[in-house]
Amino acid sequence: PATLSPVVAGLVQDILAGAGPRQRRAMAKAITLLESTRNDHRVQADALLTELLPRTGASFRLGISGVPGVGKSTFIETLGLSLIEQGHRVAVLAIDPSSSVSGGSILGDKTRMERLSMDERAYIRPSPSSGTLGGVAEKTREAMLVCEAAGFDVVIVETVGVGQSETAVAGMTDMYCLLQLPNAGDDLQAIKKGVMELADLVMINKADLDDAAATRAQAQITSSLRLYGMHRRTAPEVAAAAWQPRVMRLSALKGQGLAEFWSAVTEFRTVQDRNGGLAHKRRQQARTWMWERIQAGLQQQFMSAPAVRQVMDETLAQVLEGRLAASTAARRLLARFSGDNTDA
Ligand code: GDP
Repeated sequence: PATLSPVVAGLVQDILAGAGPRQRRAMAKAITLLESTRNDHRVQADALLTELLPRTGASFRLGISGVPGVGKSTFIETLGLSLIEQGHRVAVLAIDPSSSVSGGSILGDKTRMERLSMDERAYIRPSPSSGTLGGVAEKTREAMLVCEAAGFDVVIVETVGVGQSETAVAGMTDMYCLLQLPNAGDDLQAIKKGVMELADLVMINKADLDDAAATRAQAQITSSLRLYGMHRRTAPEVAAAAWQPRVMRLSALKGQGLAEFWSAVTEFRTVQDRNGGLAHKRRQQARTWMWERIQAGLQQQFMSAPAVRQVMDETLAQVLEGRLAASTAARRLLARFSGDNTDA
């Protein structure tokens, strides 16, 4: 279209042109553009996304999470290498909300997945390094679309269990897999945090170290998933999903359980394709995502609106001192924000 800037048109062309160094460079530039906070960049980034969108959606989106040290990068590297040997193109993206706090990304560590990152059939991108979890997740979701348009047919989104990042990953992938260690402490933590409820598949990693413990963990988690399953079936938004979450043992280091893992993924995909569950899930995710972003955007606009800022400190002080009800204060501030000063 005539409205497309030459920069964006060039990126789109190179991304769609097929595998090669030119495509890789264009992907990196496109993702950098998406991550930029500059307004003019955002306009270009939105134009880019709109162009690419019709070419997205054909890949399988796999979410992987687990605490640091559980074996995510070992697993993803082994899986990725095996998938590219089977003819797949694999993209790995990460969400690490702690990276903006710590100043260095745990998941962006260059030494991770060394062999996979050197292969042209794989594309690895570390976590965006600044912003709120919502912002970081938004950039990752958009980067996923770039990878899909470029023809990567398996997109893995990885996260560490910090600050609800698991929910963000589960909310942008087709299948969400949780890696666990074979000891009860960790299992209980995931159950407590409600992460277990999100899982389509739980893998007890490092089963090679203590197979008895891994088997116990498998039994324990299987029974707690069954409990969640009862809730799942009653929730209308997942009623279409005829998939029962599973628990498997795995040794990412030795590659044991990898073939079983991938066959479970394939089965999940077949079941969900057939019953329309996947399309339904993606529509729900898009809807949720739009509203989440509207809320975040509104909040940001609200906080920076001059009419609000003028009276924010004083209004808050009144609330803290007990002279104004919190709800009244909220109504007054919202009225100022929308330019309606009648009761302010
Ligand atoms: P991440 O922080 O979740 O990405 O974990 P890593 O993949 O970096 O793994 C952390 C450590 O656990 C490394 O020393 C791995 O070699 C080791 N590890 C990963 N998977 C296994 C496994 O299946 N068995 C054993 N014994 N060690 C593993």
